[in-house]
Amino acid sequence: MYDAVVLGAGVIGINTAYWLAKSGPKVAVIDRHSRPAEEASFANGGQISVSHAEPWANPQAPLQVLKWLWQEDAPLQFSPRFDMHQWSWLAKWLWQCLPHNCKRNMAEIIQLSAYSQRLLNEVSSEHKLNYQRQEKGILHFYCDQDIWQKVPRTARLMCDYGCQRQVLDKDQVLATEPALAPIADQICGGTYTEADQSGNAHEYCQQMMEVCRNVGVDFHFNSHITEVKTQHHDVRIVIRNDYTQEELYAPRIVVCLGSWSAVLLRNLGIHTDIYPAKGYSLTIPVENPDAAPNVSLTDDEHKLVFSRLGDYLRVAGTAELSGYNDDIPPERIWPLLERAKTCFPDIGDFKEISPWTGLRPATPSNLPYIGKVRGFDNLWLNSGHGTLGWTMGCGSGKLLSDMINNPQSRGTDLLHQGFSNAHSDLYF
Ligand SMILES: Cc1cc2nc3c(=O)[nH]c(=O)nc-3n(C[C@H](O)[C@H](O)[C@H](O)COP(=O)(O)OP(=O)(O)OC[C@H]3O[C@@H](n4cnc5c(N)ncnc54)[C@H](O)[C@@H]3O)c2cc1C
Repeated sequence: MYDAVVLGAGVIGINTAYWLAKSGPKVAVIDRHSRPAEEASFANGGQISVSHAEPWANPQAPLQVLKWLWQEDAPLQFSPRFDMHQWSWLAKWLWQCLPHNCKRNMAEIIQLSAYSQRLLNEVSSEHKLNYQRQEKGILHFYCDQDIWQKVPRTARLMCDYGCQRQVLDKDQVLATEPALAPIADQICGGTYTEADQSGNAHEYCQQMMEVCRNVGVDFHFNSHITEVKTQHHDVRIVIRNDYTQEELYAPRIVVCLGSWSAVLLRNLGIHTDIYPAKGYSLTIPVENPDAAPNVSLTDDEHKLVFSRLGDYLRVAGTAELSGYNDDIPPERIWPLLERAKTCFPDIGDFKEISPWTGLRPATPSNLPYIGKVRGFDNLWLNSGHGTLGWTMGCGSGKLLSDMINNPQSRGTDLLHQGFSNAHSDLYF
């Protein structure tokens, strides 16, 4: 018998299990794969980007998205479907683009992200984790003069929220990351945040699984959650593996199923605003380290990020609102490869590239759902971290664990710092 069962072993589930188990309860984690972080947390952009946490829903976004609608290799693609969930998500996303909503969301995201980064640093040094972490900051570079003109204003706004985002001219960009030399003539300028980091989320989850085991967490892999059943005000989970099917009850069941959280909860009549925003990445072996970046980069024009993960370069980005599918069409990978070749032509021969796709569990505001699900005594949710699940993961796990341990507080530690967990007020 477990005190708490965490559904999903992505970066959110692993962090949730860790903090819960550390605070006392006997915890189990259930996942359909044979190890943690095999879905959205597998090969993401790697950025811990507290100071680059602008939500997708911002006042400039609708016009930008309209321009991209007819562009085949656009960073954001929308495939309309007969799906109310998709259309209502889109309508709510437009609402979140209004300036006052965007400002509020940005403040909340930065607070949760900064809190999360602080905890991630503590956890990493306490358990001596080694996940190709780079503490060299994030450099955001711009190649479009019109967009570049507006950057100092956004940077000032981020500074108002406590981020140290420096505006750099072209020479300073190249001095910060000399590997950008091949595209020096395209760059207008950039912003740099020294405190931001990068690292391999998949590696982190594998190591945290061992840490969790050491604090008593049991992992049940190759276990598919096929159904949730209600019994009075409780839920029970139906789990199927190769040979058996069983029903499981625990006083706390925490849903951390990424994009699939929405599907599971819909079976209970609970409609969340989590919709899959599909993204792609490429992992490229670095044969010539001098030609590869060490600072994690964001290429504004192409909406791509580059992170150095040991002997590899990860390039990630693009978003598609096209429902639940995991195919990897070559035409979506091609722009990532071409841009990597343009920016860093000498890192290697680009022959052994590993393409990947993942579904970001996106909410219209980019704020996650962290809290207890209304109407049920044992059901909790930690999901919907969208573009920033790696950045917000450690803090979200702690917040949820604090809320479970002290339900009246709704997450003491972070609330005392002014975080309102606004989403939980709205939906739980
Ligand atoms: C291309 C791309 C780039 C990104 N770059 C960054 C970045 O640079 N920085 C950043 O902070 N974030 C980034 N993200 C976002 C981040 O990766 C996600 O927000 C995060 O991984 C979500 O974690 P999760 O645990 O909620 O979901 P997941 O990692 O998807 O975990 C959900 C788990 O639930 C399990 N599961 C689902 N359904 C079932 C079921 N029925 N039965 C059993 N198990 C089930 C899955 O197997 C999975 O392990 C990026 C995402 C993408 C796609």
